[in-house]
Amino acid sequence: MHAAMEHAQIPGRSVPDRHGLQETAGLVVRVVESRILDCPTTRRHKLSNTEIAHQSYVIVQVVLENGVIGYGEASTLGGPRWAEESVESIKAAIDIYLAPAVKGLCALSFEQAGVRMAAAATRNFAAKAAIDSALYDAAGKSLGLPASALLGGAVRDSMEVIWALASGDADQEIEEARAKLKAREHRHFKIKLGFLSPRDDMARVARIIDAVGNDARIIVDVNQAWSEATAIRYLPALHEMGVALVEQPVAAAKSAAMGRLAARSSVPLLVDEGAFTLEELVRAGTGAEGTVYSLKLVKSGGLMEMKRAAGIAAGFGMELYGGCLIESGIGAAAHLAVFSTLPKLEWGTEHFGPRILVEDLTAGGIEYHDFKVWCPEGPGLGVVVAEDVLRRFARPV
Ligand code: MN
Repeated sequence: MHAAMEHAQIPGRSVPDRHGLQETAGLVVRVVESRILDCPTTRRHKLSNTEIAHQSYVIVQVVLENGVIGYGEASTLGGPRWAEESVESIKAAIDIYLAPAVKGLCALSFEQAGVRMAAAATRNFAAKAAIDSALYDAAGKSLGLPASALLGGAVRDSMEVIWALASGDADQEIEEARAKLKAREHRHFKIKLGFLSPRDDMARVARIIDAVGNDARIIVDVNQAWSEATAIRYLPALHEMGVALVEQPVAAAKSAAMGRLAARSSVPLLVDEGAFTLEELVRAGTGAEGTVYSLKLVKSGGLMEMKRAAGIAAGFGMELYGGCLIESGIGAAAHLAVFSTLPKLEWGTEHFGPRILVEDLTAGGIEYHDFKVWCPEGPGLGVVVAEDVLRRFARPV
C-alpha cells in the first residue's frame, strides 16, 4: 500500500516555537475559510426525528504558508436535530472562534490545535473536526504522506461497508437492498426505525429480512425514539428476527435505561448519540450501556481524539463500529484515515455517504466494490476535491 507515493523531504528549516514544538517552515496555517453547501441526495432519508432530501455540509479550506490547500468537512442531518449543531452554527463557530485559534499554528501541531480550539469553544465537535481534518489534509499533502501515516499508520486498506435503508417503504427498501447485493457493493444493511409505530417498524423489518435475510446482515437504528418500556417490549422480537445489532434505542440522556436494556437484551446494543466525549464514553463503559460503540468525528471533534475514543471503548471490551452522518467523500476520507489505523474495527463502517449524493464532492480516491470501501491512498485525506461541484452547491451568501 502507498507504494507509489513520493516521500518528500520536509522542506526548509525547523524552528522551535514557544511551545517547544518543531515548527516546520512553510506549514504555518495562514487562511481558514468555510462555506455552507446544500447537496441533493438520490432519495429521501428518514430518521426518527427528521427527514432529508438534501444533505448540508460546512466545507473548511485551510491554506498553508507553502500554498498547500487542505479540506475538511462538517456534516449534520436536517439541521440541529441529530445533535445540537447546524451548518449555520458550525460556520459561525469556525469563522468567529475556531479559525482565529488555529491561524499561525504549524499544521502538524494537531494536539496544540485541539487544545486551542477547546479553549476557544466548548463542544462544537463537528466544527472542530472539520478544521482538524483540513489540517491533516494540508499537512499530509505538504509531506507527501497519507493522513493515516500521521495517526500511527494503516493496518487495513479496506473494510466492510454498511448501507442504510431509510425510505420507510419496505418495497423500495427491498429493491434497494437487492440491487446493492447484486452489484456486490453492500451485504450489511442498517434499517432506520422510529418514524413509524413500533408495530409497523417490526412488520417492515420482518418483510426486509424475509426478502434478503439469507444474503445480508441486518442491524437497526432507533435514533433514540423508544421509551425503555417500548424497547423492553420489542427487543426480543428483533432478536427473533435475527437482527444483529440495535443502535441507540432510547434517548441519549437515558444512560441508566441503556444499561438495563443492554443487560437484558439478547441483541447487542450500539451506543451512538449516548456518548460523544471521552468522559461520556467512560460513563457508558462503566454502566455497560452497550457492547458496541459508534465512532464519529462529529462526536469526537478531531481525528486523534476519535482514535483515543476507540482505545477507551476497546478497553471497556466494547466492539467498534465506524459511524457516519452521511458525509461526502471529504468527510468519509477523514474517518477512513482513522478507521484504517485501528487495531480492531469489528463492525466495519457505514460510510456510504458519497454514494447517496447525486454528485459527490470528490472526484476520485475512495472506491466501493466487493462489499467493501477501499481507503484512498494519496497524501493527506487522499481524495481529489471537485471544486466545480463545491461551487455549484455552495449556499449563496
Ligand atoms: Mn445512529
